[in-house]
Amino acid sequence: MTSIVIIGAGTFGLSTALQLLRKGEKNVTIIDPYETPSPLSAGNDVNKILQSSVEEKFYSELALKSLDLWQNDPVFKPALHETGILYTTEKDFAYFKERKQFLDEKAIQYRSLKDQLDFTKLIPSVDDGSDQSKRFQKWEGLYQQEKCGWVYAAEVLRLIATEVKRLGGKFVRDAVDEILYDEKDNSVVGVRTYSGEIFHSNKVVVAAGAQSYRLLDFEGQLLAKCWTVSHIRLSPEQAEKLREIPVVLSLDHGFFFEPDSNNDLKICNEFPGYINWDDTIKESVPVYKNLIPKEAETYTRLFLKKFSLSFPINLLA
Ligand SMILES: Cc1cc2nc3c(=O)[nH]c(=O)nc-3n(C[C@H](O)[C@H](O)[C@H](O)COP(=O)(O)OP(=O)(O)OC[C@H]3O[C@@H](n4cnc5c(N)ncnc54)[C@H](O)[C@@H]3O)c2cc1C
Repeated sequence: MTSIVIIGAGTFGLSTALQLLRKGEKNVTIIDPYETPSPLSAGNDVNKILQSSVEEKFYSELALKSLDLWQNDPVFKPALHETGILYTTEKDFAYFKERKQFLDEKAIQYRSLKDQLDFTKLIPSVDDGSDQSKRFQKWEGLYQQEKCGWVYAAEVLRLIATEVKRLGGKFVRDAVDEILYDEKDNSVVGVRTYSGEIFHSNKVVVAAGAQSYRLLDFEGQLLAKCWTVSHIRLSPEQAEKLREIPVVLSLDHGFFFEPDSNNDLKICNEFPGYINWDDTIKESVPVYKNLIPKEAETYTRLFLKKFSLSFPINLLA
């Protein structure tokens, strides 16, 4: 029975709290400056891809283990949308080989897509007037039909927070300023928050996401990066055409999801990520913006055009 402080009630902080409480820990305190879901949490989003076959086998195995929770645990289950994922590329076809081997090994259902028709059936055009003949020429794809899709990430944060409270986890609305150490042996003894309160504990879990660098020296192992996310509000007719499509993950351009309940289509363009380098502290310092750079908008539009999903309207954010 340890006293544990978790810094950050985002994706990792909340799931860590839940697992600790389910394993019988009684003294778990989660500190976050915001109500769940925090606007600072990368997990505060309508949809996130849930993959179970990624580049590294280790992570694929881990994802498959977690799938049992998503499919059967009452806390996670309501957030799962097992729509499948369509992986596509116009060039790096070798990429699919390893993925297929893994899917074969695990007897997971998938289809190889080579035919233009295969693609057009899965991703209908929202524009009836456009020329369909040029869509998806010379494309290859792999459609993993099960054990993957997307999750309603913000909702599952809310569901976990409710369960954590029910199991006796204590939430504190504050931001941690400093981790405290014993002067004699340098062991962790607790944290101090910005409001000056001290929380004593035997263990501290740092789960402050992109802000974690403020609290601990990660010796160059962490780098805060920003990815651009855009939304386009579709008409009800357009949204209906894309309802229940698989997640589309283009290795060359980015990814998008079926429209959400507001008929917003969310698109992330494939990009190595922006950093905000501060040379004095040698760190990338997170900034939060409701704007995307012009170049990101250009690539996002190009990406949509590839799928004949271009819209003559502004991106929302
Ligand atoms: C645009 C984008 C798209 C993504 N898409 C996917 C995807 O499709 N699938 C997928 O699996 N992953 C995706 N990810 C990654 C995923 O969102 C993150 O890996 C995950 O949310 C990180 O969780 P975390 O707990 O580390 O941080 P976060 O969820 O960001 O949580 C950090 C928490 O710490 C709190 N905090 C910050 N500072 C302090 C402080 N000083 N004291 C106390 N609390 C503090 C914040 O309020 C926040 O609640 C995406 C990420 C981004 C940015």
